[in-house]
Amino acid sequence: MKNFQLINNKLRKLLFGLCIVLSAILFVASTVVSMRFGTAMLPVEHIMLPVSSLNGCMQALMALIGIIMVLIDRKKGLVTACIFMGLSLAGAVRAIIVSGNLSSAPGAFNALIFILAIIMISGQIKYSNEMAVTDSVTGLLNRYGFDRVLRRKLWQNEKGCIVFIHVDGFGPVNSNLGRRYGEELMTVVANRIENVIPAKCSAYKIEGSEYAIMMPESVAPDDIINKVMATIKQPITINKEGISSNCYLGAYVGAAEYGGSVDDVDTVLKHADIAMNYARKSGKNTFFMFDDAMKESLQRQVVVERLVKDSLKNGWFYLVYQPQYTVSDKRLRGFETLIRMNVPGEEKVPPSEFISIAELSDLVLEIDQYVLDRSMRELREICYSSSNTITLAVNISAKDIARAGFADKVLEVVARNEFPPECLEIEITEYSFAEEGNHTIENIKILRDNQIMIALDDFGTGYTSLGQLMNLPINLVKIDKSLIDNLIRNEMNMDFVKSIIYMGHLMDAEVIAEGVEHDNQVECLRNLDCDFIQGYIWGRPMEYDEARELAYDAYA
Ligand code: C2E
Ligand code: MG
Ligand code: MG
Repeated sequence: MKNFQLINNKLRKLLFGLCIVLSAILFVASTVVSMRFGTAMLPVEHIMLPVSSLNGCMQALMALIGIIMVLIDRKKGLVTACIFMGLSLAGAVRAIIVSGNLSSAPGAFNALIFILAIIMISGQIKYSNEMAVTDSVTGLLNRYGFDRVLRRKLWQNEKGCIVFIHVDGFGPVNSNLGRRYGEELMTVVANRIENVIPAKCSAYKIEGSEYAIMMPESVAPDDIINKVMATIKQPITINKEGISSNCYLGAYVGAAEYGGSVDDVDTVLKHADIAMNYARKSGKNTFFMFDDAMKESLQRQVVVERLVKDSLKNGWFYLVYQPQYTVSDKRLRGFETLIRMNVPGEEKVPPSEFISIAELSDLVLEIDQYVLDRSMRELREICYSSSNTITLAVNISAKDIARAGFADKVLEVVARNEFPPECLEIEITEYSFAEEGNHTIENIKILRDNQIMIALDDFGTGYTSLGQLMNLPINLVKIDKSLIDNLIRNEMNMDFVKSIIYMGHLMDAEVIAEGVEHDNQVECLRNLDCDFIQGYIWGRPMEYDEARELAYDAYA
């Protein structure tokens, strides 16, 4: 059955036409034969064949063709097959009446049975079609049904908006209470969505935790989506073995328009998916509508991702090193490694852009590996000449340090390059600690046990409070440039920087200020007892040869 529905439209129409012609030929032939020869015996070759048997064969063939028509197009096939079989039945009844005997009764009986069989087959097909488009848990139309409805709307040139809703929170219920309770929740969510959307809209359950709504152009999506998110947020009470507990779900929502210039299903779905991804990144209970800016950033993302891949393959990445100094006596502490992309004939792409795009995929892991390996290879001699007192800081993405086995990989690169581990510092941001169940702490422990230092980059920009800072297993706090920029102008900022330095020292870590550009900032940081400075005032990021000279001069 599926095969008949999958063959292309033209071929289906052709096959259906052929079936009608064959049915018509068989019907005419059986009528002519029975009118001309009645109940006689027909000589076929040397055998005498009763006319009624011949008619029975033709009727069976007509029934088979009728079934094929139903499989090709259920509704039209049912009507056409019933017309032919009905005519055949009428012919047999007429023969009984005209001849006054029951010799045509088996033919009439056969035709009736065939009609009933075709109706039953058609009913079964209808039922399976409905089952194929219905989600068995919630009773809503599923992904297949959603695609079919959207395809039809686009075909009919209708306009509107589709909304994808990812509901968070089913997982813990499934694993703690059992799938039955997870399914109960899914049904409650489905009912709640259906209760808040207007009758003109329709709800779907498209994948595991994803629902969808289809809205016609006449409906304003924002208002309805806010209601949907609010209803999903309401606690749901679950009762297991007499004990009730409240379950809190959240959702992120992406929407995209369909119709007009966006007239194919795949594009509409892709747009809604992108919008939903934006919402996912912004956190729970957020809603994004796909717009031109998203489209442009998506196109840019594709271009930059290509550039990153090509740069890794063709060696278009290189490293620069920005010096760090002690505040008290401007002694060289070491260098922060910063990556640069140099694509021949292309505009320069800043690392802040390509790193954040690489972080969306696993490309950033390749970048981190490249930087670790190359910087250790390049700076090894400098470290030896400083009697292993100089520091090489390498930025590592939150995604990388959160992975199991990251520390072992670093140790392997250290060993391969015969790099003194006490000279290596891994810079991470507070986001590395954000996700539950990641391996950041475990990795840090292994690294620190092997003398490698850990710095917390960009401190003061995120959500980590001074209290939380105390509990992080780090050696160095890097105060973000944004705090240094306002150090002199804003008294509250100065107090905050003072507290960071105080807290840092209290937890036995050292403190470095990033992005220092002015003398008065240096003066202020010195008074606040800050340990180190990294900034344009004393050194911009420089290429390897320059960094080597600087280091040799410092340790000459
Ligand atoms: P970051 O790790 O906080 O690096 C410091 C950034 O501030 C660098 O920008 C540096 O050039 C800039 N900077 C330092 N001092 C000053 C100053 O006095 N004034 C001004 N205006 N800027 C200053 P850059 O090289 O563009 O890097 C930007 C960000 O890109 C880095 O921030 C880091 O998050 C990321 N990044 C750079 N290289 C790598 C890398 O090798 N791996 C990874 N994972 N990320 C990297
Ligand atoms: Mg850094
Ligand atoms: Mg920084």
